[in-house]
Amino acid sequence: MRTIRWMSLLLVLTLLTGCAGQGKREQKAERELFAMDTYMTVTCYGPQAEDACDVAETEIRRLDALLSVGNPDSEVSAINAAGGGELTADTKALMETALSMWQATSGAFDVTIYPLMTLWGFPTGDYSVPDGETLAAVRAHVGCDQLVYDPQTGTLTLAPDQGVDFGGIAKGYTSDRLGEVFAAYDLTGAIVSLGGNVCLYGEKPDGKPWRCGIQDPFAADGGRTLLGVLTAEDVSVITSGAYERFFTDEQGNVYHHILDPATGYPADSDLASVTIVSKSGIEADCLSTACYVMGRERAADLWRQSGASFDMILMTRDGTVYVTEPLRGSFTTDYPLRIIQ
Ligand code: ADP
Ligand code: MG
Repeated sequence: MRTIRWMSLLLVLTLLTGCAGQGKREQKAERELFAMDTYMTVTCYGPQAEDACDVAETEIRRLDALLSVGNPDSEVSAINAAGGGELTADTKALMETALSMWQATSGAFDVTIYPLMTLWGFPTGDYSVPDGETLAAVRAHVGCDQLVYDPQTGTLTLAPDQGVDFGGIAKGYTSDRLGEVFAAYDLTGAIVSLGGNVCLYGEKPDGKPWRCGIQDPFAADGGRTLLGVLTAEDVSVITSGAYERFFTDEQGNVYHHILDPATGYPADSDLASVTIVSKSGIEADCLSTACYVMGRERAADLWRQSGASFDMILMTRDGTVYVTEPLRGSFTTDYPLRIIQ
C-alpha cells in the first residue's frame, strides 16, 4: 500500500504572487513550516512583516499541538480518551461550528467521524480495508446526534466508543485565527497557504487583487497544473479532493481520506474536487469537505439555500468545472465551464 500527500499550492502561489511592490509593501517576510500534517507557508507584507510571521508561526504550532489526533498530548486526544470534557476556547468554537455544520449539511460533515478514520488507518498511516461487519459496527457510533454538548459550560459528553476529529475544519479555523493575529500588525497584506487551503488578507504588493491558482485534481493523471485561477481579496479559498491523501490496496483500489458518514466508505460522489470561497475560513473548510461528500447537485442546492455566504468551484470527475454565478467574472479555466445559478 502506498500513500501520497500533495504539496499543494506552494509553487503555484509563488508563481502567481511573486511580484515586487513599492515602498512599505516591499517589506516582506516569509516562513515555511510543516504542521497539521501538511506543508504551510506564511508570507506577510508591510513594516511589521517579520513580527507578524513569527506570531503566525507560534499560533499555528499552538493550534497543531491542541488539535492533532496523532499527538497523545493534544486536547483532542484527551477528550477522546476521556469520552468528553470541558472544552477550551478553541475546541469550543470548533465544536459549535461543527455541530451547526452537521445540521446544515444533513450530516455530511460529521466531526464524530474519528472511529471510522482510525478503522481505515488514516491517523497512523497503518492502512487497511475493513470488512463490512466491522465497518457497520464502528459506523454505528458515528453521529453528532449521539453526543451531548452544553454550549453554556462548553461541556462535551461523547457516547461510548465515540471520538472527535477536527481534521476537516482545523486549517480553516487556523486561517481565521491568523486573520485576527495579523490585524494587530502594520501589514499591507498577507497570504497563507495551509496545504490546499489559501487565505488572502489585505492587498497584494502591487495593489492589485491576489491571483490564486486552484490545483487540478487530475494533475497526476495527465491533467493540467491548474484547474483554474481565481482573482480575489480578503477570503479563504479552501479545496478538498480525493487526491490529497489516499492509499491503494493490492488490487489497485484507491481509498481516500474523506469519508461518507452515511456509508463509512470514502465518499464516492461525482466530484473530483471542491473549492469553497468564503470570508470565513472555518466555513470554507467545513463546506469543502461536506460538499465533496454531497456531490454536485446537493452542493449546488446547499449554495442556493445559503443566501450566498460562500461561493464554490466544483470539478466533476468527467472534467467539467462548475462555478457559482458570483465568481463568473473572477475565475478563469481552460476546462469546460458551467455556471451554477
Ligand atoms: P485536507 O485536510 O486534506 O485539506 P479536508 O479539509 O477535506 O482535507 O479534511 C479531511 C479531513 O477531515 C480528514 O482527514 C478527516 O480528519 C476529516 N473528515 C473526513 N471525512 C469527514 C466527514 N465526513 N466529516 C467531517 N470530517 C471528516
Ligand atoms: Mg475541510
